[in-house]
Amino acid sequence: LPWRNTRDAYAIWVSEVMLQQTQVKTVLERYYGPFLARFPTVEALASASQTEVMKAWEGLGYYSRAANLQKAARMVVSCHPERSEGSALVPTAKKQILRCAQDDRFPDTFEELLALPGIGRNTAHAVLAFAYRLPYPVLEANVKRVVARIFAIETPADVELWAAAERLLDRAEPFDYNQAMMDVGAMVCTPKRPACAICPANAICAGKAEPERYPAKKARKIVPTREVRLVMAEDARGRLYLEQRQDRLLGGLYGFPQVPLNVIASEARQSSLTTKTEPRIEAGLPRFARNDGERWGTATHTYSHFKLVAEVVVVQNWQATNRGGFFTRAEIEALPLSKIDHKALAVYDARLDKAARRKA
Ligand code: SF4
Repeated sequence: LPWRNTRDAYAIWVSEVMLQQTQVKTVLERYYGPFLARFPTVEALASASQTEVMKAWEGLGYYSRAANLQKAARMVVSCHPERSEGSALVPTAKKQILRCAQDDRFPDTFEELLALPGIGRNTAHAVLAFAYRLPYPVLEANVKRVVARIFAIETPADVELWAAAERLLDRAEPFDYNQAMMDVGAMVCTPKRPACAICPANAICAGKAEPERYPAKKARKIVPTREVRLVMAEDARGRLYLEQRQDRLLGGLYGFPQVPLNVIASEARQSSLTTKTEPRIEAGLPRFARNDGERWGTATHTYSHFKLVAEVVVVQNWQATNRGGFFTRAEIEALPLSKIDHKALAVYDARLDKAARRKA
């Protein structure tokens, strides 16, 4: 893995943030290389626009990770006033922790790393162990399972796992130790049918008699479905209206306005959008709640914690521009969009293609 063959703390940090919620294969094949080619240094990331960073992150999901990555990069860089105008970005308390140094260093202490947005204990430990070879254990999802099995902990609390991980850590060789634990977790101590016979931890493992008992499986959560009306509003020139999202899930991306259908239902009952209406929608789109527009199809996407079913509605000759703007298709290609918006665009294009073929 390329992020294991480097001592560049910045590159390791980027990889760790990407890997927080995403499989190694996806990060390796589609994101890590292109992201570092585009933003090869922490300074490059700090000075990029938010739209550029979001575009490079497009499709990777959990977009607050990208927003925090850039925020943190700006905090790191602003410790070097000669290379940045952004020193005001670092709050005083954090500035003290960050030891705004004269040299070119990337933060190399646990406290400094933890002071950066989007960096938790595990990411900080990974940077310290892999970039600086410092004695900190890494406890990603696979390693948690290995540790739970070695200590036969059925329902492990994080604090218990961290204490166990600290006990196991090889302080003389933290890089090799952590690599080995991650490899064992990925390839030997697998969720089902772990290969205990060839496991290097076999001699000390208290859970090997019944490994699949540890940790106990959590009850599967039911994923709720949210239904929305997704509005593709065209202006007189056929450009489409998009706004930059502010919410936690997709903040920083551009998207077509969405009106929750339950809001529409409540409006039908109360003939007003003054209650239960998100301010964003109330400000921009009250008229769509009155069933304006033509339904062109449906787009669906499943996020980690809910399924979104979007009824794609097209409205022509729209003039409102209060939050967003109108964009040509070429301009939209350059914007970072979420999956549901890409799927809505596919519905839109398919309908236009069909109409063009009929005409021909
Ligand atoms: S001996 Fe088996 S259960 Fe224990 S760590 Fe190794 S693979 Fe996992």
